Amino acid sequence: MCTVFFDVDTQIDFMLPAGALYVPGAEKLVPTIARLNAHAWSTGSPLISTMDAHAENDVEFLSWPHHCVAGCLGQRKVTPVADRAVKVSLAAPCPDVRQAGHVILEKVTVDCFTNPHLAEVLTQLEADRYVVYGVVTEICVQNALFGLLKTGKPVTMLSNAVKELSSAAAETMLAKFTALGGEVASA
Ligand SMILES: [Zn+2]
Repeated sequence: MCTVFFDVDTQIDFMLPAGALYVPGAEKLVPTIARLNAHAWSTGSPLISTMDAHAENDVEFLSWPHHCVAGCLGQRKVTPVADRAVKVSLAAPCPDVRQAGHVILEKVTVDCFTNPHLAEVLTQLEADRYVVYGVVTEICVQNALFGLLKTGKPVTMLSNAVKELSSAAAETMLAKFTALGGEVASA
């Protein structure tokens, strides 16, 4: 049984009060996210961390404040990155991630599936199920959840390890997710 842990956008700009696009209360998730990622490593489960990696003049900044510019402090993950991390960039060919202790999946939109290599990464990891957490519940987490559901494997969202900007929008998303067969659990 291969469970893939899917950690969405837990980067300084989103997770900490000083971040450029801070999600209020997200910093309280940090110990839980760190524990989940460490659990993935200790059980040999693949861990994929999606990470915004914008250019200085990214088109996304027309609709969102300037955030997560590649190489800047705010773009860093708020929890540790494993030594054997493999980066999956948009520009480079898809690497072999089968032995990677940590897959860093870069993206420049709110949908991680716009990284053209994600489908290939998922194929390589041969997941039986996905466990998803991070921010923002009704935006990037939603895109990850719905995209992963399309693989046909079970997808579980950990409700105490996600954070929303709008609780109404998050509730609407959750209703849709569970109607599609998604599961909700606690970490
Ligand atoms: Zn972004």
